[in-house]
Amino acid sequence: MKEITLKAYAKVNLALDCTGHRKDGYHLVSMVMQTVDIADEVCVKITESAAERRGSERAGKAGRAAIAIRTDNPALPVDETNLAYKAAALVMEKYHLNAALEINIKKNIPMAGGMAGGSTDAAAVLKALNGLFALGLSGSELDRLALSLGADVPFCLREGTYLAEGIGEELTELPAFPQCALLILNPGFGVSTKWAYGQLDAPQAEFFHPDIPGLCGAIGAADLKGACSKMRNIFEQVVFPEHPVLAEIKKSMLEAGALAAIMTGSGATMFGVFENLSLAEDAGKKLKDAFSPSFCRAVACRRALH
Ligand code: ATP
Repeated sequence: MKEITLKAYAKVNLALDCTGHRKDGYHLVSMVMQTVDIADEVCVKITESAAERRGSERAGKAGRAAIAIRTDNPALPVDETNLAYKAAALVMEKYHLNAALEINIKKNIPMAGGMAGGSTDAAAVLKALNGLFALGLSGSELDRLALSLGADVPFCLREGTYLAEGIGEELTELPAFPQCALLILNPGFGVSTKWAYGQLDAPQAEFFHPDIPGLCGAIGAADLKGACSKMRNIFEQVVFPEHPVLAEIKKSMLEAGALAAIMTGSGATMFGVFENLSLAEDAGKKLKDAFSPSFCRAVACRRALH
């Protein structure tokens, strides 16, 4: 097998809280993560095997670049700063894989939007390389590699509904979020995650904290309305004052019938929870007219695969 293509699913945060700092300065979080039905397509291909590369070297021919990233999105970096590149480089070095790879990313997830677009591409590359090179890496080995790439990457190896604690790596699977549809809307700008965390650290800053155990309890009881009443994102308190249009989007989603409407990650993607797909689609039409977003789609939550 020379290539593997995987769907790399996006996430939203059904709730997000920041609870303090680890000794090394990393922020401690408590968040409920949900996989959603929006995915990049990540194809990892071996373009030159280790033996072919050795042959090229012996013949004095320039071999292919060890890792080449291709994408349909010109805004995506294709150098070593791409998280998919970092994932491949990590595995190639750790397992001494001297092959040449091409990674093709068809980008469908809004970028820098709090939907873990980079993290999910990296997770897909880890899975693909595990298969392509028959590395036989266990779940916990994949988790270790994933965490060294970013706090959201271990979640992205999974699908479904999870409570994430620690710096995002302590994952507890929750029962599936009750049946519903989400309207996901990106207003066309991003928010720097680093900036947003910095705002939470401002001296004398005081924030309202979401009731995460209450949300987990409502999910466990399959109580959609109860869960929606507990969905909160601490970052709204620092991001909305900078981008008031996000508060308007939230209000419009609620007026259009959403049971809850919140921002995911550090923004700026917003999403609303609706009882079914056709209600979410109808709301989407109204919000498209009002806000001309760069991305607006009604989708389902994705359940755990097992
Ligand atoms: P999170 O929800 O994990 O905070 P995000 O969805 O806000 O992440 P990303 O879409 O991952 O953010 O993009 C953040 C930045 O990372 C982008 O501006 C981009 O330059 C860089 N990046 C690196 N690799 C990727 C990738 N494969 N896909 C998207 N962005 C990437």
